[in-house]
Amino acid sequence: MSCEDDDVDCAEVLDRVYAFLDHEMDEDRALTYAEIEAHLSDCGGCLSKYDLERAVKAVLARSCACEHAPEELRMKVLARIRQVRVQVTDYT
Ligand SMILES: [Zn+2]
Repeated sequence: MSCEDDDVDCAEVLDRVYAFLDHEMDEDRALTYAEIEAHLSDCGGCLSKYDLERAVKAVLARSCACEHAPEELRMKVLARIRQVRVQVTDYT
């Protein structure tokens, strides 16, 4: 159940997903959709574990289509990630 031994740990993914959502088109810090997908399959679903996978994918899908995610959805996901990051950090 541990992700800590992976190349990319869950806290970092959450951090980068947060940055991605927060800055949307800031490509230097953004995690790509492919990277998130890769981590999810490696890790067994750290985002789905926290019920974030669907929300993140919804936001990403809209970002990929060059549309801005609805502010309400984005804020909801950001708030959730902030919560989860605290939990994940407590474990490590
Ligand atoms: Zn993970």
